[in-house]
Amino acid sequence: MRILIIEDETDLARAVRKALEEDGFAVDVAHDGESGLYQAQTCDYDAILLDLMLPRRNGWTVLDQLRKTKDTPVLILTARDGVDDRVRGLDDGADDYLVKPFNLDELRARIRSLIRRSAGKASSILRAGDVEFDTASRTVRKAGKAVTLSPKEYSVAEFLMMHRGELVTRTKLFEHVYDESEDTLSNVMDVYISNLRRKLGKDFITTRRGEGYLIHV
Ligand code: CA
Repeated sequence: MRILIIEDETDLARAVRKALEEDGFAVDVAHDGESGLYQAQTCDYDAILLDLMLPRRNGWTVLDQLRKTKDTPVLILTARDGVDDRVRGLDDGADDYLVKPFNLDELRARIRSLIRRSAGKASSILRAGDVEFDTASRTVRKAGKAVTLSPKEYSVAEFLMMHRGELVTRTKLFEHVYDESEDTLSNVMDVYISNLRRKLGKDFITTRRGEGYLIHV
């Protein structure tokens, strides 16, 4: 899952980025409204954290422009006394908000919930056959037994599970699993997929040559 943080307070942005990366998210940061909007429009993020008071373009303008083309889940970050800001943000198409200063665990939980809801999943447990993903603890079990996945293997599998029944192209998978600073070799995805098949069963993921990957419903 890939997240965009649009926040001009560099210390805050850095702390949030670190926390989300520890959770296995791919994270990009923009420090002003204009570059944030550009990134949000050009890349397909799983969720966006949007500060309202931003240089160059404020958060409302970013949200307003973004909503013309994309329905990416947006969580706005607002000041403690900004009740009107929160109401306006939600009315303008934000999906949730957090008041600064916020607790990082609450932020994590809200992001997971936003991503689940946007994928049409109410529960934090995802199941396919005898394989079970707990997206809150990022743990996986097969036939009741714990399976250890590397962080990237988990991210690849979780994205496919969230979009179960859909064919996911390689390009899309790369876009959601890596941030803009990571250099990757194109064959790395084949390695993850083959590891996941070995650990979770050879029929767990279907490959359609030249098209992409699929977990059947
Ligand atoms: Ca700000």
